[in-house]
Amino acid sequence: MTDIPHNLQHVQQRITTAARQYGRAPKAITLLAVSKTQPVSAIETAWQAGQRAFGENYVQEAIEKIAQFHERHPHAEPEWHFIGPLQANKSRLVSEHFHWCHSVDRLRIARRLSEQRPAELSPLNVLLQVNISEEPSKSGVTLAELPALAAAVAELPRLRLRGLMAIPAPTPTTAQQRQAFRLLSEAFQTLKPALPDFDTLSMGMSDDLEAAIAEGSTLVRIGTAIFGARPPR
Ligand SMILES: *Cc1c(COP(=O)(O)O)cnc(C)c1O
Repeated sequence: MTDIPHNLQHVQQRITTAARQYGRAPKAITLLAVSKTQPVSAIETAWQAGQRAFGENYVQEAIEKIAQFHERHPHAEPEWHFIGPLQANKSRLVSEHFHWCHSVDRLRIARRLSEQRPAELSPLNVLLQVNISEEPSKSGVTLAELPALAAAVAELPRLRLRGLMAIPAPTPTTAQQRQAFRLLSEAFQTLKPALPDFDTLSMGMSDDLEAAIAEGSTLVRIGTAIFGARPPR
């Protein structure tokens, strides 16, 4: 049996240890629990253990789980983050049901999210997903196209541009992991002065969170190390 409360504590400890090692405040790093393909009961267990932010990848699965969670816990207010690839025809569901979207990589999607954000909700927090490994098959804007996209997205009225996100190609050594994260971190620092709400650098997963924290991550997205191996979809 996966001991979710124990795993959460262990991941928090990893974050604290890495933050101290690299001279950063542990509180400056948010833990996002990636619950994709996990049952609502796993989210409930994590919530009861004090976890507050959850990441989901698949729109349909996510909105069913969000609805179930709120039915069972009408007064609970977890923060829901959409972190998966986003198709234009699913943008409305994301803008209606999530607090954050990490995977904005083109203006067309950003415009739709802004237009579709319900008036009674606060603006949708968005991150631009950057393809730092420049893998042709991967989603994400290239570093070359990033400044123009950031400037355009920052103008959209119902979005709040909070920062950047990346999923680098897996590499075996900490040095290689850090090198990839550093590219994103440098892009973040370059853009930040012109963008008032820019405060979030979403990078680091179960296997590379220490390297990400070393390079300035403010939000790590952790699935397996909290919930165990993912059941197949
Ligand atoms: C699945 C996923 C994660 C979590 O990965 P783990 O290796 O299980 O921690 C993080 N970010 C994104 C975008 C994901 O799709």
